[in-house]
Amino acid sequence: MTVPPSAPLPSAAPDPLRAPWIAPMRRALVEAARAPGTGDVPVGAVVLSADGTVLGAGHNEREATGDPTAHAEVLALRAAAETLRKQAGQGGEGRRAGEWRLTGCTLVVTLEPCTMCAGAIVLSRVDRVVYGARDAKAGAVGSLWDVVRDRRLNHRPEVVTGVLEPDCAALLTAFFRDR
Ligand SMILES: [Zn+2]
Repeated sequence: MTVPPSAPLPSAAPDPLRAPWIAPMRRALVEAARAPGTGDVPVGAVVLSADGTVLGAGHNEREATGDPTAHAEVLALRAAAETLRKQAGQGGEGRRAGEWRLTGCTLVVTLEPCTMCAGAIVLSRVDRVVYGARDAKAGAVGSLWDVVRDRRLNHRPEVVTGVLEPDCAALLTAFFRDR
């Protein structure tokens, strides 16, 4: 049997949408791996400035700290805001003291954010949210809800999904299997 000439070739083409976020996602995975020692679900997040500098990182600490809001995304957003606040205090350019917006930044997280984190992402004014694994049970960035792209909100960050999805999902699968 001959292959029809129109058959698509096996594709090794790079994925231009996701490729730029692979390295930051690896950084988020490193952060996620720090969580299980405390019994927390291994989810990690980083916030990048427009030039790709890591401004803040976080992993789930709900069990470790007894704080129901200590999700990776919230902690990474807080850490990034703190970094920018300190830079402003040192005469950093382009940011006023008292500024809380994370305009120009990207939040990269290993698991699709929940409703709380999706809300925090919108309120932080980040330009973009990038995630790895989908969360079919609680995801609020496309799965169960789509909070960040709700047209009734006046700030809607760009969304990139499925970056290193198998790696991100495997970490969670292993965690729940070993419990
Ligand atoms: Zn969350």
